[in-house]
Amino acid sequence: LSFRSFPLGTKIWQAVEEAGYTQPTPIQAAAIPLILEGRDLIGIAQTGTGKTAAFTLPILAKLCPEGNIPARSGTRALILAPTRELAAQIEENVRTYGKHLPVRMATVYGGVRERPQVAALRSGVDLVVACPGRLLDLLEQQHGNLARLEFLVFDEADRMLDMGFMPSIQKIMKWVARKRQTLLFSATCSREIETLAQEFLCAPELVQI
Ligand code: AMP
Repeated sequence: LSFRSFPLGTKIWQAVEEAGYTQPTPIQAAAIPLILEGRDLIGIAQTGTGKTAAFTLPILAKLCPEGNIPARSGTRALILAPTRELAAQIEENVRTYGKHLPVRMATVYGGVRERPQVAALRSGVDLVVACPGRLLDLLEQQHGNLARLEFLVFDEADRMLDMGFMPSIQKIMKWVARKRQTLLFSATCSREIETLAQEFLCAPELVQI
């Protein structure tokens, strides 16, 4: 199986090949077609399985049909992650796979000054990677606009819940467009994960690696 069997577009195929990937990992092979089809998805997979590319590649493809961004309409994709380290890692992945695409992104996490993040949000970005606490702070100050969000990812959702982010997530969701595609990735499947999925996903496919 090659990445070229997925309709990701030339620019993404090229970036993946430049990253040295020859074939999709099992989570990628299972998840990419479902995400491209527009399905909501719960992916149960550990780090190291290639789960970041599993959601990043199809989201980038959908943000940039024909390799271009349609007329700018505010933030279209939001990836929520538990820690600054993970957010930075996701950002790096998006830059790698999106290097030939005109996607603009911002990364938002606590422990650093707000101002550059606010400026980035205000400049109009297509994709935001964020930790829930800081994102909520910024939303409450009327920075950022998620009303036209098309893609939402909960990455390492089990860790976000363990870290007590559920109340922040609940509040963030009030700003998020209802009609959207939602993906949830977690290393484990617990009652709490199922509750989160029930609340925010719509008829999700389950992919377990
Ligand atoms: P992740 O599980 O998303 O943290 O990814 C683990 C590592 O696998 C990262 O360093 C990726 O760059 C790498 N990776 C992801 N997909 C592939 C692939 N299809 N082939 C080779 N390496 C990959």
